This record gives sequence, C-alpha cells and structure tokens, in this order.
Amino acid sequence: MDLKLKGKRVLVGGATRGIGRAVAEAFAAEGANLEIVARHSTEEIANEISKRFGIVAHGHDCDLSKMEDISLLKADVGDIDILFANVGGPKPGEIENLGDKEWHEAFDLTLMSVVRLVRAFLPGMILNRWGRVIALTSVSVFEPIPRLLLSNSIRMAVEGLMRSLSMEHGSSGITFNCVAPGYTLTSRVRALIEDSARAQGKESKVIEKEIADRTDVKRLAIPNEIADMIVFLASERASYITGSTIRVDGGYAKSTL
Ligand code: NAD
Repeated sequence: MDLKLKGKRVLVGGATRGIGRAVAEAFAAEGANLEIVARHSTEEIANEISKRFGIVAHGHDCDLSKMEDISLLKADVGDIDILFANVGGPKPGEIENLGDKEWHEAFDLTLMSVVRLVRAFLPGMILNRWGRVIALTSVSVFEPIPRLLLSNSIRMAVEGLMRSLSMEHGSSGITFNCVAPGYTLTSRVRALIEDSARAQGKESKVIEKEIADRTDVKRLAIPNEIADMIVFLASERASYITGSTIRVDGGYAKSTL
C-alpha cells in the first residue's frame, strides 16, 4: 500500500522515547521528513533517525506545555503537512492529593499543548488545502483508569476539540483524529505500573499481568503497534477518516463504540 508520505513534513511531539519515538521512526521509514520535538536531546535523536532512514530531520528542544516555546517552535519550523500532537502523560493521583497546581499543569500539558500547536500550524495547512492533525489520547476516554484522574478528565477535552476542528475544517482537505492507545510498554507505563504496585502493595509483575489479562489479546502493546495506526491516519489512504477516535488497545476497553 503506497501511503504517499514521502517528502511530507511531519512534526512529531514527544519524539525522543516511547510512542512518539516509534511514530517518528515509522514516518521516517515511509520517507517523510521530520521535526522532532521534546524537552531535550532532540538534535541527537534527529541525527540518528536521519542517518538511519536517509531523510531530513531537525531537532527542537521545546516544552510543549509552554506557549512561548510553541511560538519559537513555529518560527523555527514554518509550515508542516502533518501534526502529531503528543507529550508525556499527566501525574497519577487521587482527588485528595491533586491540588490546583497539578490540575493547571495537566491542563497546559495535555489540552493547551494541542490547542496551541493547532493554532500555530493549522493556517499553513488551510492555505495548502491539505493536512493531518492527530492527537494521542488514551483508552481512558472510553473507560476511566484508576488513579489517572487528570488523564481521565482532561483528555476528554482533547477529544471534544478534535471533533470540533473536524466539523469546522473538514472541507479544507484536513483531517483531525485521535488515537487512543491501551497500555503500551514504554518508560511511562513502567513507572505507572510501579506506582500502582506501591499503592496496592503488590509486585510490579503482578500488576502487569492483571493489565494483560484484562485485554483480549492477553498482553500489553509495543509502541510500533500504536505508531502504525498513526502513520496510516496521516496518509492519503485515510482521507475519509476524520473526527474519529481510533482505539488501539488489544480489546482493553469493553465499550462497543
Ligand atoms: P513517555 O514518557 O515514554 O514519552 C513521552 C515523550 O514526551 C518523551 O519524549 C518526553 O521527552 C516528551 N515530553 C514529555 N513532556 C513534554 C513536554 N512538556 N513538552 C515536550 N515533550 C514532552 O510516554 P509514552 O508512554 O510514549 O506516552 C505518550 C503519551 O501517550 C502520554 O501522554 C501518555 O500518557 C499517553 N498514553 C500512553 C499509554 C501507554 O501505555 N504508554 C497509554 C495511553 C496513553
């Protein structure tokens, strides 16, 4: 299947590790050029990916929870064809130990990063009459996850935002979708498993097995399995998919939607 991604300009958020890194490599394998964004070490990763796949990649050290950083990023990058909005996840915790500070930080990180990235890069896509915006959310939008109050709440707003953008700009050749991964083996998920293990007085491997057993496939995902869906949604072949959330969770959520 020709995904027609060769030479497309793709901005990948949170691209130095985990799902974002797998997404950057999957786009590079299709011949797309990359703007690699994360808080640090992006130049190093961009060089590595560029050499390995023979594409052009630039690194941008940028905190996507900050408006000033996104303005600088836009000035550096110019216009892009594809935006993959992704950052690290908000802190775990319960209502009793998450204060206003944590809620505001999570709001800036999880929702405002997407709002500000879209504000910066959508005008170029509109002029070009082509674009793809994909936001990474979580299976928590289908089924809330214990101790992830911030994620469970604020990611719903990202879903609403993307659905609204699709209604407003769907006729401009731009699609807006969310990908909602289930538990995927990255450093973030290993930390969450350890956090749950401590909270429940169990061993990490017991928690990991409990999660795996809840899925239909009886295992956690690997980052490439999420990345492949993102690359497909960004392609020409997915031109009629917009305003959707695609669940990639091995059957973790029991919702029929
Ligand atoms: P990760 O922690 O392995 O990687 C996060 C990446 O984002 C890193 O490159 C990090 O440097 C970057 N990042 C963090 N904060 C940033 C910021 N403020 N500005 C710019 N870059 C920043 O995480 P992951 O497991 O790959 O998850 C990615 C996203 O997907 C997170 O929001 C996570 O909550 C969500 N998610 C993950 C899973 C999973 O199982 N791994 C499941 C559902 C949703």
